[in-house]
Amino acid sequence: MRFSKTFLKTLRGAPKDEIARNGALLTRAGYIHKEMAGVYDYLPLGLKVIENIKNIIRDELNKLGCEEVLMSSLQNPEPWEKTGRFSDQEVDIWFKTELSSGGVLGLAPTHEEPITELLKSYVSSYRDLPLYIYQFQTKFRNELRAKSGILRGREFLMKDLYSFHASEADLDRFYAEVENAYRRIFARLGIGDSTFETFASGGIFSKYSHEFQTFLPVGEDTVYYNADKSIVLNKEVLNEEVLRDLGVSRKELSETTAAEVGNIFKLKFKYSEPLGLKYIDEENSQKTVYMGCYGIGVSRLMGVIAEKFADEKGLVWPESVAPFKYYLVGIGENGVQAAEKFYASHEHETFYDDRDVRPGEKFADSELIGLPYRIVFSDKTLAENAAELTSRQTGKTELIKISDL
Ligand code: ATP
Ligand code: MG
Repeated sequence: MRFSKTFLKTLRGAPKDEIARNGALLTRAGYIHKEMAGVYDYLPLGLKVIENIKNIIRDELNKLGCEEVLMSSLQNPEPWEKTGRFSDQEVDIWFKTELSSGGVLGLAPTHEEPITELLKSYVSSYRDLPLYIYQFQTKFRNELRAKSGILRGREFLMKDLYSFHASEADLDRFYAEVENAYRRIFARLGIGDSTFETFASGGIFSKYSHEFQTFLPVGEDTVYYNADKSIVLNKEVLNEEVLRDLGVSRKELSETTAAEVGNIFKLKFKYSEPLGLKYIDEENSQKTVYMGCYGIGVSRLMGVIAEKFADEKGLVWPESVAPFKYYLVGIGENGVQAAEKFYASHEHETFYDDRDVRPGEKFADSELIGLPYRIVFSDKTLAENAAELTSRQTGKTELIKISDL
């Protein structure tokens, strides 16, 4: 991508009402644009980051045999009324809208009800199970506080996976597979070292659910951890009974803040029972389908990764999610010529700063935008038949022979 050809501009300041660092940096660096509190547009660079995150998740889920769909955002109240969730009680608050022909629709805050309803048309026998179905979808929630940039949107991107089983043992088996897939996903996203599976409240049917929490100073959650026993638990389950269960005492736990990047639930019959998702088993009797659900906050992850690695100069993307690998600069006539040549053969991985501005401005923007490597060609480097390669992460610069680039 050529800087001169995009509508993108880096900005000196962020919107006045943007108090979150991720929101401010991502806005200044041209990744996102704020529409209003909790509502953002994703610009070309930001969209690439989102797509990179999605592709890592997609790759790991497809390995488990999951199938991707895209369900509707507009929701008929009916199935939600059957589970009691169309009122604002249990899920985060709905955005609702009136139909011109009468009646009310809602914008989906999550999809347990519609997917359960949908599968009633496709599941009838034990032979139809298990099924693992997921999507990347925009969710709408009228969140009370939307002050954390893209960590908490009123409109945000989620990966939601739902699994359907003929037995509890099969649900347990798949749940464990998803736990492992999640570990691989967060490792590939560069936050494996700081993301921990965390005990959280399980709702009605299982004692615990699990969250995946990335330790982060600006995280909205409070968690307690014991590094030796590799135990992490959410504040909401910090009580005597849970401590006994986990074999750890309050004294052995430290407190920290974290951002929930994903969670997994054994739902069992929570939705299949009220909505009547049944199958016929091998003995020809009718049974209720076991369910699990597994979320990942895709847009939140982008904000978490931005927060995690940013420094005083700007963003620092891990290679796996960076929109491009190289930030390319040519200085002087010969430098530009060499940069053009490099760009011609590395277009897909290169963001080429071909603007007519001073090198100092290009360098500052390269640090703000945060691509893994900056490559500079100039008379000085060309005299050595080389380019200057600077790692954004370490700040180290080395001369690399053009033939070795
Ligand atoms: P939170 O406690 O942070 O509100 P949640 O328990 O409501 O999260 P889920 O409904 O399980 O979250 O959604 C699945 C995932 O979607 C979460 O783990 C989180 O990463 C992400 N997520 C939830 N709400 C938001 C939001 N308002 N903005 C961005 N991401 C979100
Ligand atoms: Mg919530």
